[in-house]
Amino acid sequence: MDAMHLSDRLATVAAYVPDGARLADIGSDHAYLPANLILNKRIKFAVAGEVAQGPLENAEQEINQHHLNDKLIPRLADGLAAIHTEDRIDTVVIAGMGGRLIQQILAAGSAESYQRLILQPNIDVDAVRSWLQANHYEITDERVLLDDGHYYEVVVAEPGSADYDDMQLAFGPVNMVKNDAMWRQKWEREQGRMEKIMQQLEDVNQTEAEAYQNYAGQVARIKEVLAHAGV
Ligand code: SAM
Repeated sequence: MDAMHLSDRLATVAAYVPDGARLADIGSDHAYLPANLILNKRIKFAVAGEVAQGPLENAEQEINQHHLNDKLIPRLADGLAAIHTEDRIDTVVIAGMGGRLIQQILAAGSAESYQRLILQPNIDVDAVRSWLQANHYEITDERVLLDDGHYYEVVVAEPGSADYDDMQLAFGPVNMVKNDAMWRQKWEREQGRMEKIMQQLEDVNQTEAEAYQNYAGQVARIKEVLAHAGV
């Protein structure tokens, strides 16, 4: 992967960045995402925020290589502190981290509101959705994709109000309505994985065990959500 050729995961995130956005990519590492968007003339200005020196140097190298120094600004900073008022940032991407870290980064800078957040948590997506609904953001789009054998979730949010129930927080309010094939596949696989473990527990007469009951509860939830999705 490089700035000219994004992974399917980052290309999906990039597709949600509005044309002409002023973007902050927090935890940018090589800055492939903002560099790609600028090289493709989708956006004119971006900040690549990094908390660690090594990844920041990766970003600087990418920026120098493509002569993007006046349009893509690398900044060493923790989370949203990379964004300065004069940047007039309207769109924030936080991708490729755990949902709890994304939640912490958002919480540390929650006084500011952005026109669009594009979040790609690798795990704990529910933590991200909870933060959004508690902080006056509404989820406007969601997508599940398969890249290199992993399912990834992308959550897009804009200022608004929302009141999600536990199922919506876990499975995604937009996913449940869109009923997209890749989203179903992710949860059908998860159901299959849990049913296999349940079968192993049944084989050793452990159906009363707490673990078995937990899996049974989760499988029932998945079945219920998939049965009612898209209606
Ligand atoms: N966003 C890129 C992507 O999706 O491919 C890079 C993901 S990389 C796995 C995560 C990056 O986030 C690392 O470079 C790490 O240094 C950075 N990071 C972690 N915590 C951060 C924070 N609080 N503020 C800024 N960057 C952070």
